[in-house]
Amino acid sequence: MKKYLALFLVLIVGLSCVACKKKDNISEISKDLTNYEISLDLDTVSLSAEASLSLDYINSSEDKLNELKFHLYPQFFKENATDLVVSSTKLNDAYPNGMDYSEFEVGRVRVSGQDKTVQYQGEYDGILVVPLSNALLPDERVDIFIEFSFQLPNCEHRFGYGENTINLANFYPIVCVYENGAFDESGYNSNGDPFYSELANYSVTINLDNADYVVAGTGEKTDTRMVDGKYQTCFSAKLVRDFAMVLSDEFEVMSKRAGDVNVEYYYFSDGNASEHLEAGVDAIETFSDLFGQYPYSTFSIVKTDFIYGGMEYPNLVMISADIEDSDDYKNVIIHETAHQWWYGMVGNDEYTYPWLDEALTEYSTLLFYDFNSDYNLSHSEMLDASKSNYTLFVTVYQDVLGDLDTSMRAVDEYSSEPEYTYCTYVKGVLMYESLYQLIGKDDFLSGLKNYFQDNKYTNATPTDLIHSFEKSSGSELENFFSSWIEGKVVIR
Ligand SMILES: [Zn+2]
Repeated sequence: MKKYLALFLVLIVGLSCVACKKKDNISEISKDLTNYEISLDLDTVSLSAEASLSLDYINSSEDKLNELKFHLYPQFFKENATDLVVSSTKLNDAYPNGMDYSEFEVGRVRVSGQDKTVQYQGEYDGILVVPLSNALLPDERVDIFIEFSFQLPNCEHRFGYGENTINLANFYPIVCVYENGAFDESGYNSNGDPFYSELANYSVTINLDNADYVVAGTGEKTDTRMVDGKYQTCFSAKLVRDFAMVLSDEFEVMSKRAGDVNVEYYYFSDGNASEHLEAGVDAIETFSDLFGQYPYSTFSIVKTDFIYGGMEYPNLVMISADIEDSDDYKNVIIHETAHQWWYGMVGNDEYTYPWLDEALTEYSTLLFYDFNSDYNLSHSEMLDASKSNYTLFVTVYQDVLGDLDTSMRAVDEYSSEPEYTYCTYVKGVLMYESLYQLIGKDDFLSGLKNYFQDNKYTNATPTDLIHSFEKSSGSELENFFSSWIEGKVVIR
């Protein structure tokens, strides 16, 4: 996500309130993954949906599994749970027409064709527990069928609708990552993108009652047709860690090639649409050269009603319609596109280590300007802004709180949204600039290539990141990173 910071404005208000050159064979790699087949009927008037998930799950762990657990993120958009959707200072932005809540119900659940009684766990029943009929051995597969229905809230967030668009993200039960003998049961949080998932394949069908709606989604749009009086759009996405859609009856679409990638821009009311599409094309090309090739056939940039600057999903990024300045808008497109590498292909536990993808994504945005001098922003300008904003944040916070914890930590360990934003993004930029100066440009860039090449299509850890730069530089860097992550570095 891009917590949009106006680059040259000091956020006093916010502060005081608290390569691989070879193309990957995706179809070969995707054979051993879990398959999600989702079918969704959305009523575009009531904004309610009936849906089902047919899951072909593969046990990739070395343990026998007796149950599967799923995240139910729509539970957090229900009444009384909204303290975890946005911070209290952002309620009016997220709910411009007053508070509104989702409804979400799980219906029939079947395992290998047999009906099952499920359980709920975690805060706001955010975890669904499905018992298996027989222990699932390593590398075995099981079929799970889950019916579910929901009502979208009028909320300008990942799961909700605004004046112009419908954001359908994190709307379906997604399997919790199983590691170290347990399922990850992290809940939701208003800070960051509190998600953690495994790569999988998706086949998604959405049926609408209105022909005016255009659907942008993760992966390739394989069909648009009329079936039983409904307007059906189908998507197929392989080797991705999530699936998201954005719908609008106002969308115009523009596209341009970036090598083998079809980059599409879905937008409304945009006088600079071709420039904004071009920023996405330039970002795909620049990051493919710098880190390793973008291997998918499509990438969609989608203008939408969204409370923050933008949000990343595999093959699709949301860009907020609230951004008025074209340079800022392009900057968010570049940031979200970098997430296709750091989050999308190289995944990580974004709940526990939000800095791992965000700091690198933000610094990748600065690097972009080094290789694209025709943009109105530059690496040095952004770096200067980061330095002055960060030192001001530390000064103001220390005045108010006396003591300030600047460690880079899990999303639920920050006491305020500005603290999360400054420690994760702004300090993250300063950390990578310091590393760049320490090991030099060549070793820095080859460290990034190592990190991508050695960790793509997996979930990486901070240790993996450190090893990538140690490998390129031949230097011991544990102490460098731990001093930044633990908040011991003094920045002046
Ligand atoms: Zn981000």
